Amino acid sequence: MTSETPATRRVLVAKPRGYCAGVDRAVQTVEKALELYGAPIYVRKQIVHNTHVVKTLEDRGAIFVEETEEVPEGAIVVFSAHGVAPVVHEEAARRSLKTIDATCPLVTKVHNEAKRFAAADYDILLIGHEGHEEVEGTAGEAPAHIQLVDGLDGVRGVQVRDPERVVWLSQTTLSVDETTETVTRLRERFPNLIDPPSDDICYATQNRQVAVKEIAQEAQLVIVVGSTNSSNSKRLVEVALDAGADASYLVDNASYIQDEWLEGVTTVGVTSGASVPEELVDGVLARLAGHGFADVQEVESVPESVRFALPHELRRGLRANAR
Ligand code: SF4
Repeated sequence: MTSETPATRRVLVAKPRGYCAGVDRAVQTVEKALELYGAPIYVRKQIVHNTHVVKTLEDRGAIFVEETEEVPEGAIVVFSAHGVAPVVHEEAARRSLKTIDATCPLVTKVHNEAKRFAAADYDILLIGHEGHEEVEGTAGEAPAHIQLVDGLDGVRGVQVRDPERVVWLSQTTLSVDETTETVTRLRERFPNLIDPPSDDICYATQNRQVAVKEIAQEAQLVIVVGSTNSSNSKRLVEVALDAGADASYLVDNASYIQDEWLEGVTTVGVTSGASVPEELVDGVLARLAGHGFADVQEVESVPESVRFALPHELRRGLRANAR
């Protein structure tokens, strides 16, 4: 500690934070597939958007590819938690790949909504970030019926065939507040806009935003652990700033923290995105402790107990192996 270090320094750690049920399932899927079938196991795209998780699985024998055409004929490929378009399944079948689909069930729910509204010939306004894998997968379910609305700026350009038959759906990892604003603007243009049958922004995204808001009200600085391609982690930084933090930064791990961020700060908030293992948060807390932030309090906002079963293809393999 320097002579200028404030005497009382504390850390508020948000709860819930870190792994959601969909990420936990997806990571376990690759781990169990490696145990069951041996390396290599191919994985299309990053299984979850976290550099550390991807590296750890690579070290154990997973090979990450961008497209199924990079996977040797007949090999095993895992589809990531973000979901894939039907054309990806078709391509995998053409190449005789053995597929294990780790798409989060809450992403599958949005796919099913898209299929249902497209079958009923609705125009579907999909609120999400252009180029994000989840959006590409959902849009691929019904490309002729879906148009992307990328935030408030995207509202003006929307054109529909019949304003009476329009529904909005969304990516699962958006900012709740920003999406509400986007829907309000869409509804100004299309007063009979239909809401999704249930929330598309998933429980984990919502809960982590509620939790970071609570700590951000008391913290001058909020550190969000997460990778730069993690949509839900990036949203946590925005939500922390909106909720009153003077500063908020996204860090992949403790080594990204800059000492000057901590100057004059007495309360630091810490949280992590839905694809972040807890050991990375532990590393951040250890680094903060070295700067005199030894008083660590966990602030629980919402209890969480959601769990998902492993993909059925994998459970079948595990059962057969146990016989
Ligand atoms: S963030 Fe939500 S939708 Fe994405 S994997 Fe986790 S639970 Fe599923």
